[in-house]
Amino acid sequence: MPKYRQIAIYGKGGIGKSTTTQNLTAGLAERGKKVMVVGCDPKADSTRLLLGGLAQKTVLDTVRVQGEDDIELDTIMKVGFGGTLCVESGGPEPGVGCAGRGIITSISTLENLGAYEEEDLDFVFYDVLGDVVCGGFAMPIREGKAKEIYIVASGEMMALYAANNIAKGISRYAQSGGVRLGGIICNSRNVDNEKPLLEAFAKELNTKLVYFIPRNNIVQHAEIRKQTVIQYKPDSSQAEEYRKLADAIIENEDFTIPTPMTQERLEEILFEFGLMELPEYQI
Ligand code: ADP
Ligand code: MG
Repeated sequence: MPKYRQIAIYGKGGIGKSTTTQNLTAGLAERGKKVMVVGCDPKADSTRLLLGGLAQKTVLDTVRVQGEDDIELDTIMKVGFGGTLCVESGGPEPGVGCAGRGIITSISTLENLGAYEEEDLDFVFYDVLGDVVCGGFAMPIREGKAKEIYIVASGEMMALYAANNIAKGISRYAQSGGVRLGGIICNSRNVDNEKPLLEAFAKELNTKLVYFIPRNNIVQHAEIRKQTVIQYKPDSSQAEEYRKLADAIIENEDFTIPTPMTQERLEEILFEFGLMELPEYQI
């Protein structure tokens, strides 16, 4: 059994998976952890902030050009901020073939090249595209690679709808394998009563809100500079939020089989919190 933790980050497209994963990773690196990030999105932008740009070839492109046998680990794995190991799976051209294939190729190539035997590895993160856990996108959890899942969500209905669908997928694989839900990470969209809403949603899913990340434009300022907030403004409050997220992940010991809810129940919860008094400052 590997002694490192393998973690998959799921969530609706655009919710902030890649931003959150990289800032979290930078926070873990600051804490002295050795981390590998495997981007599992055909966009191949899961490691851009750690590498200071889209620096390396994707695994799928490399395999396509060189064939699987002659690849060197250095070609597909680059060292980023704080010594993080960065890999991008890549994917087919939009509309051609299964977008999940890159992930399958990527994991088997990394295995063959001994990437998982890297010494002192503490964490491997899979940043996975997808509103639902299907086909190739289920790979990291289907093959028992990632044992621990976090879902990034916000108080917006579609984000919660996607999170619930992802939980359905996880619960299916959890019955047969060892995969567990570690919790919900809220990446705030400044929705009314967002934190209590996310706490109630997490509870209904038989999990917890691991951390609430505030929305802050400093994230965009860092992004334009191809950096994590932790690198761009290490003294900012947002950098501190990501460090606290890193600590919450390090300390988390609650791993559960999620209990997804019906659409009706989800709407009930949204209704309940949508009807709560607005916070004073918004009136
Ligand atoms: P995903 O990987 O889920 O598709 P991204 O990480 O690419 O999403 O994030 C989408 C956009 O949201 C990015 O442009 C990013 O700058 C922005 N973003 C993410 N988190 C925050 C935050 N906490 N505050 C402000 N903007 C954010
Ligand atoms: Mg992404």
